[in-house]
Amino acid sequence: MRREDFPILNEKVHGRALVYLDNAATTQKPQVVIDAIAEAYGKWNANVHRGVHHLSQVATQKHEEARKKVAGLLHTQSEEEIIFTKGTTDSINMLARSFGDAMVKAGDEIIVSQLEHHSNIVPWQMLCERKGAVLKVIPLREDLSLDIEAFEGLLSEKTRLVSVAQVSNVLGIVNPVEEIIRLAHARGVAVCVDGAQSVPHLAVDVQEMDCDFLVMSAHKMYGPTGLGVLYGKKEWLDKLPPAEGGGEMIEHVSFEKTTYNVLPYKFEAGTPNYVGSYAFGKAIDYVQSVGLEAIAKYEHELAVYLEEQLALLPNVRIYAAGREKAGAVSFNVYREDGVLIHPFDVGVLLDRQGVAVRTGHHCAEPLIDHLQVPGTVRASVAMYNTKEDIDTFIAALRKAIMMLQ
Ligand code: PMP
Repeated sequence: MRREDFPILNEKVHGRALVYLDNAATTQKPQVVIDAIAEAYGKWNANVHRGVHHLSQVATQKHEEARKKVAGLLHTQSEEEIIFTKGTTDSINMLARSFGDAMVKAGDEIIVSQLEHHSNIVPWQMLCERKGAVLKVIPLREDLSLDIEAFEGLLSEKTRLVSVAQVSNVLGIVNPVEEIIRLAHARGVAVCVDGAQSVPHLAVDVQEMDCDFLVMSAHKMYGPTGLGVLYGKKEWLDKLPPAEGGGEMIEHVSFEKTTYNVLPYKFEAGTPNYVGSYAFGKAIDYVQSVGLEAIAKYEHELAVYLEEQLALLPNVRIYAAGREKAGAVSFNVYREDGVLIHPFDVGVLLDRQGVAVRTGHHCAEPLIDHLQVPGTVRASVAMYNTKEDIDTFIAALRKAIMMLQ
């Protein structure tokens, strides 16, 4: 699928053709995105929103068109609900600051799950420390799915917010966020969905899902680094205070009283990443020209093939084997005598053969602790990967396992 549009895939690593299976960490960029960045700086760079001059107006128009594209991608009610941030981590920190300041007091509770990325744990922990609130954790069942009955038990009149990943960055499994949202809303509790790993792989519709907030990163969806999105329902964003102060986010400033700008600018202090938003808009156009449904179907086939081929290898343990996955598969390799081969060793030997995978705790230490391993090896696919990539990866892994016996 359009491999030729991604120039980096022609690079050689240690003299071997690159097989890039680290897409859950970041995706490679198509030429249209790379060109967009050069075009922005080469043709119309100027600070947005404040200028009457031509270039500033062009930059503003392109930045706002990109916001519309993101709104279209996520199916929001309006583009005012799209706040540009630096990435998923920044979005969650902003939400924890803004929602936390306005809505959370001592004794209140925030719920996350055992399988969250650190960026969906630590900002909530910091909020709890600031406010004297309590962080509750949805446990996992034996098959590593979220224990929904236990979740129901955690919801109480003290719960203020639930924040969960739609797709686990370690296991690749799809969590039942719709059910979580339904149960939380029945108690009047707001839900934030970490879409970092889902928006690039599934067709996400925030209105259908009915989440209150959703966060994502452009770089995981063929877009540039340094740009992310915080989606919030307008009712919430109107009500919540800005998380950061500065230029752009104000209406009037005086030492006596400052008033804030309208949505979404109230949440966008300082010069925004308009080059990034423009390039992300191009990535969205690119993805939509292929079709998100077609991408999801193709990646699903690849992930199933990847897991089938892995399962044929001796002494490989796949986590959440057989479960519905979007993009990523995590595993560990054992020696014949049953001793775990450290994931780093596997990763290094794969790298020597030109295969890029990620090893370690994947910024999800509580989940890795739960699995009682030092880490995992994670292979994750994107639309430009092929069955041949997976065959090369499996052959390289076979060799690595033999060397590590
Ligand atoms: N949440 C999940 C589920 C992720 O996979 C990641 C990135 N690995 C993040 C949050 C953080 O994203 P970023 O580093 O782009 O802020």
